[in-house]
Amino acid sequence: MNATPSASVQYDLIVRNAALPDGRTAMDIAVRDGRIAAVAPHAELAAARGATELDAQGQLVTPPFVDAHFHLDATLSFGLPRVNASGTLLEGIALWGELKPLLTMDALVDRALEYCDWAVGRGLLAIRSHVDVCDPRLLAVDALLHVRERVRPYLDLQLVAFPQDGLLRSEGALGNLTRALDKGVDVVGGIPHFERTMADGAESVRILCEIAARRGLPVDLHCDETDDPASRHIETLALHARRLGLAGRVAGSHLTSMHSMDNYYVSKLIPLIAEAGVAAIANPLINITIQGRHDTYPKRRGMTRVPELMAAGVDVAFGHDCVLDPWYPLGSGDMLEVAHMGLHVAQMTGQAAMRACFDAVTVTPARILGLDGYGLAPGCRADFVLLDARDPVEAIRLRATRLAIVRRGRVIARTPAATAALDLPGRPATTDYRIGR
Ligand SMILES: [Zn+2]
Repeated sequence: MNATPSASVQYDLIVRNAALPDGRTAMDIAVRDGRIAAVAPHAELAAARGATELDAQGQLVTPPFVDAHFHLDATLSFGLPRVNASGTLLEGIALWGELKPLLTMDALVDRALEYCDWAVGRGLLAIRSHVDVCDPRLLAVDALLHVRERVRPYLDLQLVAFPQDGLLRSEGALGNLTRALDKGVDVVGGIPHFERTMADGAESVRILCEIAARRGLPVDLHCDETDDPASRHIETLALHARRLGLAGRVAGSHLTSMHSMDNYYVSKLIPLIAEAGVAAIANPLINITIQGRHDTYPKRRGMTRVPELMAAGVDVAFGHDCVLDPWYPLGSGDMLEVAHMGLHVAQMTGQAAMRACFDAVTVTPARILGLDGYGLAPGCRADFVLLDARDPVEAIRLRATRLAIVRRGRVIARTPAATAALDLPGRPATTDYRIGR
């Protein structure tokens, strides 16, 4: 890549005067053939011309948001066939079981496509979605494989074969999971804490890791999503990741039991997770609402130990998990809302900690998903988001408007900045006032 362009060079797109997540300001980004060709101070690219030019006005350009944990087969099904009265995880799973036989291919595809539209509007251009494989028809698998191809031009969708009712507990689940992988599902999933016994849970982890090793696939398990401190399947997952040489392609999702574990045990567990190269995916919106439900007061928060895992060098991402489904009646595909909640639940209000929360919905999940060409360096894919914020912390604070979304060098979505025209007694008339700025 030529990083020192001259006046004669024409680009497909140039973004002028952008701030970048690493703190650089007044930067220009030049794009050619769907890739970033140059990132340089404005003086170096002033003479260059782009077919399209976008003035960032000093605002933040970031690589796209990435959601490392979602359920696209359940999303936007809130109220079908009824709402979750208790709001608990177990009633949610039961409710999903009632809905499953009623699902149709068309409805699954329509809801998933609608959510992907929401995601793009929010600058969320990569999603890892679990897909339930316990329905022997594998209807949701077929629907989401279809959706994966439909959205490919604008959104990277990665699918996880997820035996929601338990690999060993649910009859036929192992065969269904194998068939789903044969059809092209990308990642091996599981739910060891939902098996009947701790021993069955550990056995399911072994089976799933061996399947992944044989097929050369990543592993991402719903792991220890419980307040029970005795739920230690993450230890088994790290053990098999080490034994089978799966470092860098294994993730433990939720890991909420770690919140309730004994500190001495955790002091041994976290180094094992780091050594095994296992990533952690917390889901703050869901963990803070679903966990601690058997507590009176004090009530546990239930999110895993995010800053401690980060300090040990573990990749920690924040996932959205649910939007308008049997488990969660809220959500809108806004990964800045996810980061905002994660920051609060983990009490990560230091400057570096807040920036780490921004990374947890951008670069870290991109690494966990193994996204090709992600980032803002020359040579990366020209996928990025212009935010109505000056830096990552302000972006989280304001859940900033996504002014423009760029995919492969083309602007695919725009949202006007949120402003208020104020007319207050005793105050000068103000128009286009950017609230909070
Ligand atoms: Zn989940």
